[in-house]
Amino acid sequence: ERYVYRFGGGVSDGGKGDKNLLGGKGANLAEMASIGLPVPPGFTISTAMCARYYQEGERFPDSLRDEVADGIAHIEGVTGKRFGDAADPLLVSVRSGARVSMPGMMDTVLNLGLNDETVKGLAAASGDERFAWDSYRRFIQMYSDVVLELDHGAFEEALEIAKEDLGVTLDTELGAADWQALVVRYKAIVEEQWNKPFPQDVHDQLWGAVGAVFGSWQSERAKVYRRLNDIPGDWGTAVNVQAMVFGNMGDTSATGVAFTRDPAKGDRAYYGEFLINAQGEDVVAGIRTPQYLTKAAREAAGAKPLSMEEAMPETYVELAHVFDLLENHYRDMQDIEFTVQQGKLWMLQTRSGKRTAKAALKIAVDMANEGLISHDEAVARVDPAALDQLLHPTLDPKAPRDVVARGLPASPGAASGAIVFDAETAQQQAERGEDVILVRVETSPEDIHGMHAAKGILTARGGMTSHAAVVARGMGRPCVSGAGTLAIDAKAGVLRVDGREFRAGDILTIDGATGEVMAGRVPTVQPELAGDFGVLMGWADTVRRLKVRANAETPLDCRTARDFGAEGVGLCRTEHMFFDAERITAVRQMILAEDEAGRRTALAKLLPEQRADFTEIFEIMAGLPVTIRLLDPPLHEFLPHEEAEFAEVAKATGLGVEALRRRAAELHEFNPMLGHRGCRLGVTYPEIYEMQARAIFEAAVDVAEKSGAAPIPEVMVPLVATRRELELMKAVIDRAAAAVFAEKGRTLDYLVGTMIELPRAALKAGEIAEVGAFFSFGTNDLTQTTLGVSRDDAARFLTAYVDQGIYARDPFVSLDIEGVGELIRLAAERGRATRPDIKLGICGEHGGDPASIAFCEAAGLDYVSASPYRVPIARLAAAQAAL
Ligand code: ADP
Ligand code: MG
Ligand code: MG
Repeated sequence: ERYVYRFGGGVSDGGKGDKNLLGGKGANLAEMASIGLPVPPGFTISTAMCARYYQEGERFPDSLRDEVADGIAHIEGVTGKRFGDAADPLLVSVRSGARVSMPGMMDTVLNLGLNDETVKGLAAASGDERFAWDSYRRFIQMYSDVVLELDHGAFEEALEIAKEDLGVTLDTELGAADWQALVVRYKAIVEEQWNKPFPQDVHDQLWGAVGAVFGSWQSERAKVYRRLNDIPGDWGTAVNVQAMVFGNMGDTSATGVAFTRDPAKGDRAYYGEFLINAQGEDVVAGIRTPQYLTKAAREAAGAKPLSMEEAMPETYVELAHVFDLLENHYRDMQDIEFTVQQGKLWMLQTRSGKRTAKAALKIAVDMANEGLISHDEAVARVDPAALDQLLHPTLDPKAPRDVVARGLPASPGAASGAIVFDAETAQQQAERGEDVILVRVETSPEDIHGMHAAKGILTARGGMTSHAAVVARGMGRPCVSGAGTLAIDAKAGVLRVDGREFRAGDILTIDGATGEVMAGRVPTVQPELAGDFGVLMGWADTVRRLKVRANAETPLDCRTARDFGAEGVGLCRTEHMFFDAERITAVRQMILAEDEAGRRTALAKLLPEQRADFTEIFEIMAGLPVTIRLLDPPLHEFLPHEEAEFAEVAKATGLGVEALRRRAAELHEFNPMLGHRGCRLGVTYPEIYEMQARAIFEAAVDVAEKSGAAPIPEVMVPLVATRRELELMKAVIDRAAAAVFAEKGRTLDYLVGTMIELPRAALKAGEIAEVGAFFSFGTNDLTQTTLGVSRDDAARFLTAYVDQGIYARDPFVSLDIEGVGELIRLAAERGRATRPDIKLGICGEHGGDPASIAFCEAAGLDYVSASPYRVPIARLAAAQAAL
């Protein structure tokens, strides 16, 4: 089996289709080389080796040594330099590269191949002493940090001291002798910390770095990232070894990163940053403030240092040409890394660029309009989950803003929350349900869990391509980066800005679209959903087969759902209506009643309230189906839990405290989830369902009379296991309907159906369909009852289950297609066999999850129902599933 694939110098062993084998970076380097772009030669060790490396106890097979030697020979052949040559050494970079780009993996090592001898050769061959020693000190520092994992603080400190001693502030002000002196100091630090001298053998250096890349696949950081992003642990990473090109060879050299379109807003303009006389990570590390790529961007920002367009006009034109070429070739917006060595342009990376949801929409719609992609492709391009970012409220433009600082608009969206200064605290406070803003000088991959937990991220340093900015955009978190006036003292827990002081816990608001940082909480408004969003949704709706409904029970939810394009209500939970402060007393009287007569008295008080609820919902959902679920939770949920409440409730309900306590004790259940709930309530107390059914039909007839648009009530019985249960409940409902229709002298169409949320119901679906006109798969409960896992208690072990691959994803978030899915397919099949026109839908969290929606499409369901804010996500996901 082959593990090494070459690229550059007219050779490409792989191409863009080989991402699984070569990783994204390796596949695209090979692709760029094959279409004739200037790519420094190199080779990729495939992801298959990563798997083998772990299988064989973290060792390399001997055959790999020969293959790597051939790979080095390829680079030597193209460059005419030799690895380890004391006269004119070949230097390489060692770069990790998984299928998808993954923060948390080992950082790149640059300038590998330098030692005490080759550094002199590099100086002589390049005629530039300063450059050679600068490169060597960079190498020692990077290698020590990422491969030897020594404390990098000591190196930074040594550099700071050197600068202080010399009385300079910029790295560029250090000369050859200064860097040479620092190299001596750096090597001493390595010996102190590592108890061994810095490795001088270039082959040891290379294998150390390759091993570190594979080793980093199982680092904690990488594991956390994989878990958050559903990346399987068995993918592995590739390693890229590539000839160095140098952006640090004086003023005709530079390094930069760019997007072919604006990744934040999606505008069709080159977007990027570069630095003259610098190497690799300098741009993103925030050591110097990077310069703009285009003159227009520089002028718009009012910045002084010349843009690349102005400072290196010829190379810029060449680069712009490459941008266009790559965008057309990949038919997508590209994120590009490049280096200019003494006027010559080199391409170091390209990939489809990460973008905000707003940019994703705009780019997809623009590219379709430009004719670069089809409408269907545009629909397929936008990640439904990312729409979430656009659907949530933005800052009210009319609300006053106490702006305390301004940074870069790194990732759009608004967020308010309490200040926290470290990722751990962010996570802890978020777990307690608090909204937090993570405030850092800059972020690093170690902060990922905190960034995920935070509502927003604010940094004092770093540009639009800094770690914070890139990761925040990927996660959909609002982010303001590089707010330079912030003085952050994380240890003391203080943030100072412009003479004002904020402490941990104080509330800040950030606006990731404008870069503003504000004191306190700023009110928000609903976003506008026209423009690109409307266009793309229109295209999606033309390809979608599944209908999309909403889970909604309040008028506000129903209105939001309709605005977002819901085609009905798939789940209206009636118990929420019972919790209303004004009604809870009547609800409690009903529960506490000792007999039917007592219950009926209390229910009579609830009837007009319920009717009013349904009237409003039917009005909003005029002409659309509304599925109403009859009372489902165990009754004791409505009783007080706190000691203090008992007296109050006893007074309100007219019962003694003792009687109340006794009744509460009677209602106690050991396992309420499997207890006296769902249709079991209706079987034992039919008058409850009778009242609810009456309220539904009275409201429906009223609305039909007033508006002319008759609502289509679908009355849904929960937790049915047997045909007989549904038969009994349907009789109660039909009787109520007949009574109301007789009283009002008017009838309307309605359906009676059931939730399928118990395995027995799924198995007996054929019989149940003899009675029920529709099934709604209640996948929350169906998951609990099929897996035998209580959702409320799963947190303790579910992460371990997902980590160990027992379930690929949290089954309460994404449907367990193999298990629960099989029951759904079976029930659908058996239900249809009895009643070919039976309506089939899904409610529950899964109705808004794209992977689960794809399953519903495949299983041939009629609709999915999701929470109002997820309706557009479901529309888009349903369209993608149908493509
Ligand atoms: P990441 O995945 O973190 O972006 P890369 O492997 O792309 O890491 O390396 C980061 C940066 O290092 C690149 O953008 C580039 O500037 C620099 N770099 C990597 N390889 C080389 C090389 N062969 N020559 C010059 N610079 C390089
Ligand atoms: Mg890169
Ligand atoms: Mg249920």
